[in-house]
Amino acid sequence: MCTSMVTAAALGLGGLLVSDSVKTKQASASLLSEKHLLQKQLHQVNSSLESSKQKLSRGEEQMKAYVAQAIKTSSENRHHAITIEKTLLEVSDAEKELKWLRSAVGSSEKEYEQNQKKIAELRTELERERSEKRKLEEAYEEVKNEVMELTSENEEATIQKLQDEIKDSKAILKCGVCFDRPKEVVITKCFHLFCSTCIQRNLELRHRKCPGCGTPFGQNDVREVKI
Ligand SMILES: [Zn+2]
Ligand SMILES: [Zn+2]
Repeated sequence: MCTSMVTAAALGLGGLLVSDSVKTKQASASLLSEKHLLQKQLHQVNSSLESSKQKLSRGEEQMKAYVAQAIKTSSENRHHAITIEKTLLEVSDAEKELKWLRSAVGSSEKEYEQNQKKIAELRTELERERSEKRKLEEAYEEVKNEVMELTSENEEATIQKLQDEIKDSKAILKCGVCFDRPKEVVITKCFHLFCSTCIQRNLELRHRKCPGCGTPFGQNDVREVKI
């Protein structure tokens, strides 16, 4: 081989080497650039990831809060459900009691009405009895007045009778001439009785006739009597 050929070869190699070096540099630059880009992208991704983590963390916290709230709400709901159930039972009891009370009120009203009727009947009866009592009292007053009148009449009649009897007795016992002195003597001819004074006067005046019947009599016909 000749020198020129070697040189030419060398030059040619050299040129190739130069060419490779440039290429390498370019590739390196490109890779570097790509590396930068990737780093930047990595950084962005990291940043984004961080942000996502934070969001996730916030989401978790929120979720926990929601869960806690849900648990609380659930508990409250259970509590409410129990309360509602209890209230429903109370309402049921109250309804039963109300029904019973209505029934009791109903029977009480019936009883009250019956009592009112009885009271009205008793009042009517009482009024009737009062009326009868008044009538009886009036009748009693009438009878009492009649009895009093009769008693009064009877007393008057009795007095009159007694007075008549006294008068009759006096007429029997007293002298029929003077109507004053008692009968003391009898005229034995006719058995008429007179007082001694009137008969003695008759004998003295010589008008010797019985003052009762006119029968003549003498001194011997006059006798004393003891009544
Ligand atoms: Zn006489
Ligand atoms: Zn006589």
